[in-house]
Amino acid sequence: MSELKIQRFDASQDDFGPALDRLLAWESVSDDRVNGIVDEVLARVRTEGDAAVVEYSNRFDRLSVSSMAELELGRERLQQALDNLPAPQRRALEEAAERVRRYHERQKGESWSYTEADGTLLGQQVTPMDRVGIYVPGGKAAYPSSVLMNAMPAQVAGVGEIIMVVPTPGGVLNELVLASAALAGVDRVFCIGGAQAVAALAYGTETVPRVDKIVGPGNIFVATAKKAVFGLVGIDMIAGPSEILVVCDGKTDPDWVAMDLFSQAEHDEDAQSILISPDADYLDRVEQSMLRLLPTMERREIIEISLRNRAALIKVADLDQAAEVANRVAPEHLELSVEDPQAMLAQIRHAGAIFMGRYTAESLGDYCAGPNHVLPTSGTARFSSPLGVYDFQKRSSLIQFSADGASELGEVASILARGEGLTAHARSAEYRIKKG
Ligand code: NAD
Repeated sequence: MSELKIQRFDASQDDFGPALDRLLAWESVSDDRVNGIVDEVLARVRTEGDAAVVEYSNRFDRLSVSSMAELELGRERLQQALDNLPAPQRRALEEAAERVRRYHERQKGESWSYTEADGTLLGQQVTPMDRVGIYVPGGKAAYPSSVLMNAMPAQVAGVGEIIMVVPTPGGVLNELVLASAALAGVDRVFCIGGAQAVAALAYGTETVPRVDKIVGPGNIFVATAKKAVFGLVGIDMIAGPSEILVVCDGKTDPDWVAMDLFSQAEHDEDAQSILISPDADYLDRVEQSMLRLLPTMERREIIEISLRNRAALIKVADLDQAAEVANRVAPEHLELSVEDPQAMLAQIRHAGAIFMGRYTAESLGDYCAGPNHVLPTSGTARFSSPLGVYDFQKRSSLIQFSADGASELGEVASILARGEGLTAHARSAEYRIKKG
């Protein structure tokens, strides 16, 4: 059995607040060395285009190509990957894609308008973006589910062209990633990654078209580059490490909860897994399960480091206090492993995704439940939302005045404009005021 010791807290202790702050503290590493590399990559791709992207891809992804053409895959190649998948994988992927599509269809915003009594029309026109870039990580692992979760909402929004970038270290293509791209309506794929891929999408090169927004997770080089090009293009978010917070009343099988906590811990060493319960004995039982199950895990080294550094078992007085603590954490994933999750839901204000009841494993949400798995991390669920169709739509205000409306409201505009000393504004409104 492992020596692993998981941090314990009791929410009734005076120092619980500051202790929780310390537990949650996570600053995205701003590494000077990384910043230097990313600045250089961005500058060179901006001025040298394809040639710089090819050079960096050869260097960082151990390739030996001489042109961008060798790094592009068209729709036929994506379809071929889908057609050649083993039947069970194809069925699973198609079912996941269909569920994700169906869920996201409901998020689609529609244009609206209304007409006032004098004939004035006011409203909002919703339009999809022309072209977006999807970053699919591929340095250390392949993520077909990330393809679906990032591209599907763009497709549902009606984005004109979806460009995907994915690094292929050593030139190895992942067929499941390509098949997912075919299902999610990706138009073009470039086998490039890191800061050079973000730069190519943001600035455009001879071959890679410039996009309006870049979405998708990635390592520190990708995150730093996305932050740097924000403003020139839109970005979705800067994602921190994965997190799960389980609230349990003490009646769920401890092995289930232990594995749910592992499912985030196995993502990376900085991931955070927290269990909150009013039942102290239950916290012990889950800890025992974790110790027993850890040696059976393929990614036990990563899980162990993550649990040792960032996991916690928190004893609370009751489920009301559990909800308070959950709101303080504002976790990316929140599991309400309790008898009546609907009753508890009313108390939850901040969480990326809420998994309700003992049967709702967070991992179902990662792959195939339907909702997006790109979620706000590091407490940002206080002010932001899961990736969705709305991230690929934008809104234009609509204003159309009738002659009567322009005349009447012209007085108001004129007074306010003269108050600001903006005479052209005032006179422009006054021209339209009916005389006599
Ligand atoms: P990645 O595609 O993000 O990064 C690989 C690229 O990084 C390479 O192509 C290379 O260009 C660049 N790079 C690597 N070392 C470099 C160096 N020394 N100098 C310059 N560039 C360098 O793939 P990854 O590394 O596997 O990271 C993926 C990340 O995304 C992980 O942290 C993973 O946890 C995260 N992720 C998050 C989600 C989510 O939904 N939040 C989903 C999947 C993956």
